[in-house]
Amino acid sequence: MGIDTLFREKFLRIQTERNFSFALHTTIGSGGTAALAVSPESEEETAEVLSFLKMQKIPYCFLGAGANVLPKDGFWDGVVIRFHKLRFLSAEKNRITAGAGVTGGMLLDFAAAHSIGGFEPFAGIPMTVGGGAAMNAGIRNTHFSDIVVFVDGIVDGKLRRFSLDACGYSEKNSVFLQGIAITRVCFQGVISDCIAQNTAEYLTARKRLPKGKSMGCTFVNPQGMYAGELIEKCGLKGLQVGKAHVSSEHANFIINDGNSSQDISDLIEIVKEKVWRQTGILLREEIRRIP
Ligand SMILES: Cc1cc2nc3c(=O)[nH]c(=O)nc-3n(C[C@H](O)[C@H](O)[C@H](O)COP(=O)(O)OP(=O)(O)OC[C@H]3O[C@@H](n4cnc5c(N)ncnc54)[C@H](O)[C@@H]3O)c2cc1C
Repeated sequence: MGIDTLFREKFLRIQTERNFSFALHTTIGSGGTAALAVSPESEEETAEVLSFLKMQKIPYCFLGAGANVLPKDGFWDGVVIRFHKLRFLSAEKNRITAGAGVTGGMLLDFAAAHSIGGFEPFAGIPMTVGGGAAMNAGIRNTHFSDIVVFVDGIVDGKLRRFSLDACGYSEKNSVFLQGIAITRVCFQGVISDCIAQNTAEYLTARKRLPKGKSMGCTFVNPQGMYAGELIEKCGLKGLQVGKAHVSSEHANFIINDGNSSQDISDLIEIVKEKVWRQTGILLREEIRRIP
């Protein structure tokens, strides 16, 4: 019996999509198809779906806005869990609680409407709350770990609350990347009356980022330096493999000009190897490979 039939027999109401295209649901715009994508409507339903998939030994992966992932090419006989139906938002004093599927834009608008500041540095980062909390998204000195109070995730089929300390945050990393589905995040901001002006400044700064299909920064910045500068110094700006190239504007961005994740993956390996040979520094990937 196919995954689709097996799933539908158990969950009649949950929205599903067969032959789910990774290229259409990621900012890099490459990759193949998954047998099925499912979109649970509540945290409880997400937990039920995960328990079922585990019990049936069906492989699965999580997808937010798809802004930091490199999907595999070809067909994958597994299930993509999407969170876009978990879009609840609430505010209490200077705290905001958001569902994993809330987009960065929705979060910022909601914070501004409630005069809660502290979210402005995240303006313009393509993300969902779940993806941002898993990746510890941010810029320069401000990351999710600076504003998260707690994260709710699913462990062994049950909802569990993670205090900030339990999230295991470090540079572009958290415990959630080990397979824990995030369903909601509580943030703490500060009451502010200059949110619009701050947001505009952050958005203006982002206009300098390269255009084209990318995953944002490919590599984590090594201690005390920028990965982009390192790659540029190694003379790799513009380097091309198949239909992928290192951006000539920002060397930490890889731009997809076709639809081959293999080209992008090969280019990443070549960049890593050349930087290693020339500088002795091993670049760590920021992007996540799915499935
Ligand atoms: C043009 C561009 C600019 C960018 N600029 C920045 C920037 O300034 N700062 C920055 O930090 N990032 C930046 N990024 C990268 C990206 O926006 C962030 O990493 C963001 O947090 C990804 O969120 P997402 O919802 O798209 O996650 P996805 O890319 O969908 O997923 C990322 C990882 O999180 C996992 N995941 C997703 N949702 C969940 C969930 N609910 N529970 C558990 N795991 C989950 C996925 O399985 C995957 O491993 C940029 C990307 C692009 C394309």
